[in-house]
Amino acid sequence: MTIQMPPPAARREADARERHRAAALELRRELARVERALEAGETSDEREELLLALQRLNDGSYGICVECARRIPDGRLVVMPATRWCVQCAR
Ligand SMILES: [Zn+2]
Repeated sequence: MTIQMPPPAARREADARERHRAAALELRRELARVERALEAGETSDEREELLLALQRLNDGSYGICVECARRIPDGRLVVMPATRWCVQCAR
């Protein structure tokens, strides 16, 4: 495993914006899928989670753990874009 130096702040901000845009797309896609499933009579509790995640994207708190206020690792957000918790707090 290699340890990378963090990029300069400006670069990091641009990266974060780009990731948040990608996350928003993914969340909306998931939301559309869940809403189709709900219309088809399936039950799902994902809708609320997805809406909350989109709301956090709007208010700027997306990617911050609601328990410990630390940043949720990007890799985790890619796999679980609607998550509210970092790995430690989700345990
Ligand atoms: Zn946490």
